[in-house]
Amino acid sequence: MNPYDFARIDWARPPERRRPIWHHRLTAQDGHRLYSGHLEVDLYAETPLFIANPRTVSPDPKKPAQFMQNNHNEYIIPGSSLKGLLRCVVETLGNGCLTLFDSQYERGRINYSREVPKDFQHCSENTQLCMACRIFGMLKERTGGVFLGKVNISDATAYPDKIYKYDPIYTKPLMEPKPHHASFYLDESRQHIAGRKYYFHHPNTYEPLTERGLIFMGGRPANRYIEPLDTDTQFRFRLDFTNLEADEFAAVLLAITLEEGMRHKIGYGKPLGLGSVYLYPTRLTLVDYASRYTQVGNGHGTKVLEKESGLWQLIQEHIDSFYAKHLVTIAMEDLRCIWRWPPQPDVDYYYPSKRDWFDTEESRGKRIADTKHVP
Ligand SMILES: [Zn+2]
Repeated sequence: MNPYDFARIDWARPPERRRPIWHHRLTAQDGHRLYSGHLEVDLYAETPLFIANPRTVSPDPKKPAQFMQNNHNEYIIPGSSLKGLLRCVVETLGNGCLTLFDSQYERGRINYSREVPKDFQHCSENTQLCMACRIFGMLKERTGGVFLGKVNISDATAYPDKIYKYDPIYTKPLMEPKPHHASFYLDESRQHIAGRKYYFHHPNTYEPLTERGLIFMGGRPANRYIEPLDTDTQFRFRLDFTNLEADEFAAVLLAITLEEGMRHKIGYGKPLGLGSVYLYPTRLTLVDYASRYTQVGNGHGTKVLEKESGLWQLIQEHIDSFYAKHLVTIAMEDLRCIWRWPPQPDVDYYYPSKRDWFDTEESRGKRIADTKHVP
């Protein structure tokens, strides 16, 4: 079966855009509550996980590449990766614009921009922003200005006593997806793009897809020699937020917690079975700046919630309200299947092995579900 599928976009419902609340405000204009504070989150590896170190420019292919570390030699997942992951989920479930969609594949040979209606394309005015751009920012430096966003995410650092190393592996070559195979990228009506791409989880009883050594194509290695961290390695990170409106706060909580039977995927080698992670919020600190500045004394307006003091009740209330008002239902139906945990047993995920399978007469028009039985 193909290693990824798409979470559909509800084309009947363009992103709801509005003027973002900027940092200096204390309450929303209509008197509604704004949310500021920070959330602490634990992150557990459910499968082996590998974050490549971008500073290692040309690694010695005979030595396994190491998991990314910071200056204190702590293993880290960069905050920017976590932000990208959460942003993508908010765009998917909260009806955001298509910021990550690149309509030009293969150096412009294929251009799907006409399959993305104008209302769904990148936000371009900082006074008219979709939910994802209001939360995470809009950095397109165009005439429409910038918006820095209201969320800041730290690097996730590994707990020193929760680090487990996986034996070095030679990965399978990561084949480039083939966008010119239109049925994978356009929906059934062929009017629109199919949605946002997500990779399936592999059962954690499976080994990641590997080779016995380096595979050379055109004189260069097509795969990598890496040393991932193993299942059960545990990290923590902190997400700071300022002046989130209620729907934005709920979207962030949902993007982190998803549903019980779902997990996120991050890092290198997603099609090979690496990178399934579980995000678990441990503590929420809410700071009510409005009451802080109107009352005298310290400690006013700060509330700390943990599991024992109602953290999950609060999260659930916000998420329930988000489901009732904002959730893109078809996108959640799809993501629930793709990111289900534990994954469906007895399904092997790989790109169809016959290289020319995509281009054969009988394969034309086949959808991803049909690839289940390709030899
Ligand atoms: Zn946007």
